[in-house]
Amino acid sequence: MASQNKIPQATAKRLPLYYRFLNNLHLQGKSRVSSKELSEAVKVDSATIRRDFSYFGALGKKGYGYNVEYLLGFFRKTLDQDETTKVALIGVGNLGTAFLHYNFTKNNNTKIEMAFDLDPNKIGTESGGVPIYSIDDMEDHLEDVQAAILTVPGAVAQNIAERLVAAGITGILNFTPARITVPDEVRVHHIDLSVELQSLIYFMKHYPNA
Ligand code: ATP
Repeated sequence: MASQNKIPQATAKRLPLYYRFLNNLHLQGKSRVSSKELSEAVKVDSATIRRDFSYFGALGKKGYGYNVEYLLGFFRKTLDQDETTKVALIGVGNLGTAFLHYNFTKNNNTKIEMAFDLDPNKIGTESGGVPIYSIDDMEDHLEDVQAAILTVPGAVAQNIAERLVAAGITGILNFTPARITVPDEVRVHHIDLSVELQSLIYFMKHYPNA
């Protein structure tokens, strides 16, 4: 989308976060919000918020703040005009099954369209309304799919990632503990839940009041 091209990537990433909070304010009948209030709610410093919002054409007025309605209008336009991104999920184990049942927010233009597994008991069934196909036939189904969620065991992650890339996938959300190597033009976000939990506990112990 043309107008989104002008927005820096880091700003674009925060957009859904702002959108969610402002939508709640709107539902509560609030018509304006200060950058300080926003900053506390979304945990982004107010200087960054002011810079982000200037890209949206929203200039906060001193002592008044931002117009909630205007911002929401902008966000809706920017987020909704994007076509839905089709997502595939690979590995319908415990975590994968949870994602298939998770109700991704309606304002998010993402949808898990299909899933793949090697377990014959899962192939040909549905989970959370999403069809599960055989991993052997993965390439036959991926034509319109742009992104993939990897919830397979770490040992097979690299191999599957390579197949996904060869099939034209340009984004991978990797939930396996394995680091995967892909060409530069493919974006990989890595989320290791065990590491996140360990890190949380470390910070709780060592920085209890932070
Ligand atoms: P479960 O209890 O269902 O085994 P899990 O998350 O503990 O779930 P994992 O061993 O992490 O199990 O496997 C996750 C899922 O990935 C399983 O459904 C498994 O069948 C599937 N899987 C394993 N290897 C592959 C593969 N090479 N291709 C596709 N799916 C695979």
